[in-house]
Amino acid sequence: MAFKKFGGKRFHREMHKGNWSCSDCGAEITELPFEPTPGRPVYCKECWAKRRVEKGR
Ligand SMILES: [Zn+2]
Repeated sequence: MAFKKFGGKRFHREMHKGNWSCSDCGAEITELPFEPTPGRPVYCKECWAKRRVEKGR
């Protein structure tokens, strides 16, 4: 695999692993680029993109 971890070097973006389902389409989400807030809806990549487009007028 090309994605090897070298001592002390971290990925620029930390991914939070877990098991959530998208509040919009119900898709399974296994990692998020941020820490999800309990009780708050989480969205998959596609729904995030959708929401951004809808919001960004
Ligand atoms: Zn979704």
